[in-house]
Amino acid sequence: MLRKYGLGYVKPAPVPFRQHVRSGYLYEGRTLEELAERIGADPAGLRRTVENFNKHAEHGEDPEFGKGSTSYNRSLGDPDHKPNPCVAPIRKGPFYAVKLVVGDLGTFAGLRCNENAQVLAKDGRPIPGLYSVGNDAASIMGGNYPGGGITLGPAVTFGYIAARHISGAND
Ligand SMILES: Cc1cc2nc3c(=O)[nH]c(=O)nc-3n(C[C@H](O)[C@H](O)[C@H](O)COP(=O)(O)OP(=O)(O)OC[C@H]3O[C@@H](n4cnc5c(N)ncnc54)[C@H](O)[C@@H]3O)c2cc1C
Repeated sequence: MLRKYGLGYVKPAPVPFRQHVRSGYLYEGRTLEELAERIGADPAGLRRTVENFNKHAEHGEDPEFGKGSTSYNRSLGDPDHKPNPCVAPIRKGPFYAVKLVVGDLGTFAGLRCNENAQVLAKDGRPIPGLYSVGNDAASIMGGNYPGGGITLGPAVTFGYIAARHISGAND
């Protein structure tokens, strides 16, 4: 896909990206070795890593991280690229890198609740007067992320359910 749009474009192209290089967010190198120098990595190590990745990517495989191994993954990939919409060999420069940092978006290991958003004690009984929704509550998805909205949707819904339960609206 990168080739289709010409070199120097980051998908979804054509999106201006030069400002991200200038700001230092996006690292650019004409060769893998140059990129490695810029991000403080071992140039030979980066080349080995990419060559190993390419060996499998030619067949649409990513044994290390399993990119494109789930239908959710694939729905976010490039449908024009076969056999795996999420994996292609990395061959032609310029090459790019971004620094990954830990952030938080949601959790899945919060407080266990029932259908009324009441927090459950160890014995499974609701603790009177204690409700939990949003990131503080255990995700109804059981640790999976099936799609965008799966944190805000249940947060708003169970907030509404909790309010109705507290006010006795269902009685
Ligand atoms: C960049 C980004 C994009 C996202 N995109 C999506 C999306 O597209 N769809 C989706 O469903 N979800 C999305 N999320 C996730 C979603 O925004 C969160 O899951 C959701 O906001 C969590 O709601 P919450 O009420 O549990 O917690 P929060 O929204 O974090 O609310 C907690 C509140 O408690 C306050 N607080 C903390 N400590 C105290 C204290 N001691 N006293 C008083 N107040 C306190 C905080 O200031 C905050 O206002 C995104 C999150 C991020 C960061």
